[in-house]
Amino acid sequence: MTIAVSPSSLADATPLARRPKIVVARGDGIGPEIMDACLRIFAAAGAELDLTEIAIGEAVYLSGHSSGISPDSWAALRGADAFFKAPITTPQGGGYKSLNVTIRKTLGLYANVRPVMSLAPFVATKHPKMDLVIIRENEEDLYAGIEHRQTEEVVQCLKVLSRPGTEKIVRYAFEFARQSGRSKVTCFTKDNIMKLTDGMFRKMFDEIGAEYPDIARDHQIIDIATARLADTPEDFDVILTLNLYGDIVSDVAAQIAGSVGLAPSANIGAGGAMFEAIHGSAPDIAGQGVANPSGLLLAGVNMLRHVGLGAVAARIQNAWARTIEDGIHTGDIYQDGVSARRVGTAAFTDAVIERLGQEPTRLPVAVAGGDSALVLPPLKTRTKAVKTLEGADLFVDWDPPGRDADALAAGLQAASLPDFTLEMITNRGVKVWPGGVPETFKTDHWRCRFKLAPGVAGDAALVARQFAAIAAAGFDVIKTEGLYAFDGTPGYSLGQGQ
Ligand code: NAD
Repeated sequence: MTIAVSPSSLADATPLARRPKIVVARGDGIGPEIMDACLRIFAAAGAELDLTEIAIGEAVYLSGHSSGISPDSWAALRGADAFFKAPITTPQGGGYKSLNVTIRKTLGLYANVRPVMSLAPFVATKHPKMDLVIIRENEEDLYAGIEHRQTEEVVQCLKVLSRPGTEKIVRYAFEFARQSGRSKVTCFTKDNIMKLTDGMFRKMFDEIGAEYPDIARDHQIIDIATARLADTPEDFDVILTLNLYGDIVSDVAAQIAGSVGLAPSANIGAGGAMFEAIHGSAPDIAGQGVANPSGLLLAGVNMLRHVGLGAVAARIQNAWARTIEDGIHTGDIYQDGVSARRVGTAAFTDAVIERLGQEPTRLPVAVAGGDSALVLPPLKTRTKAVKTLEGADLFVDWDPPGRDADALAAGLQAASLPDFTLEMITNRGVKVWPGGVPETFKTDHWRCRFKLAPGVAGDAALVARQFAAIAAAGFDVIKTEGLYAFDGTPGYSLGQGQ
């Protein structure tokens, strides 16, 4: 049986004619300690790799590269078969973008695969039967990182989902399930609230999932789904979800399986792959030599499979599993009465190396080979919808004493072009005009919905003229959003209370 810590069934197991080119980054915090551990084990196991090291992370950020990576390192990454990356610290505060997110998106690594299984009875967990894989969309959602401060009081972050991006990750999840012998995909969204974004994700899940009658499918709202995951994780097999939700639920899953220090992560794209632990740089324990290298090591095992070194991968995985079975445990998983010896990172690494060639006796034995490349079919061909403009939302920064929505409406109506009718004003999404109530809290940020008057056919130029007319009347218009219908279906949400 193949231990279920690997997306290996998706990896290309065809050995390369040369040594695989692996770019390594030691990262920050505990990164260098756990990366050293992994590279020592790789070498002892006979993994023949062409390694190139690059610097990323805090020092690079602070040396003036706000992306956390130097331009030279990109060339190395783009020429590599895989990137093996230790966690890094993203400096707090403005100006620094997350390097992890940048690398995933720049290299098109759209699928984040996070297997989590419990190691009972060797690692304490309330969930001994847990064995699941989280497939997280890796490029879109709130991680698009498009944020703006628009008024004195209001900031926004755009949640961006694309249909091709959604189709790819949904297809990946079903292909993954099929190829790794899993029987069910459960999709987590919040489509009851975000009907257009999460709604599209769910619709795609149903549409693409229907092509896989051999795989059961189930959709759950993210909040109750996460509660159920924490309570009865054995009910889940493959979990498919959006970027932010996936980040959160995979930490929940890893923690209840025993430790965030155990879980690996693979970032897979059509032309590249990056392997890392799910945890961060753990500054609280950095430099103490106590970190668990297992998450990064298992990520490395998956990487070795990905570049065609399945036999070495299995050898390492079995030695690691045997070490866990023998009760040689780092502090995060050590438990009196269960563990035999509490060790630091270096001693754990030595113990794995000593066991190379051995197999676990109760945990599943990893095997080499059996992998086949996952090649997604092309995106579905779709007929382009007819897109028509129905109006525009103008967002206004407006802050007079009293913040009276009726007064705002009167001012806007007086300034509006005759082509538009003011339909509604909302504040933080809730309708405050017409028919607002005094209890509603109001900020200085107003969304003013203008619909095209009957019989008017508008375009972006007309919206621009409306913008100019409202601005000329003294209103601080922050931005506009076109209100489009696609084949007659509105592509915009109603106001709350509308
Ligand atoms: P964290 O995952 O670093 O640590 C959370 C907790 O888990 C800490 O108590 C830590 O000691 C423990 N822990 C984590 N890994 C462990 C291991 N291998 N062995 C034993 N214990 C372990 O999360 P955080 O503290 O929120 O983040 C720290 C930094 O890491 C931040 O700068 C964050 O931006 C960054 N981060 C990086 C990545 C990445 O590089 N992929 C991922 C997440 C967070």
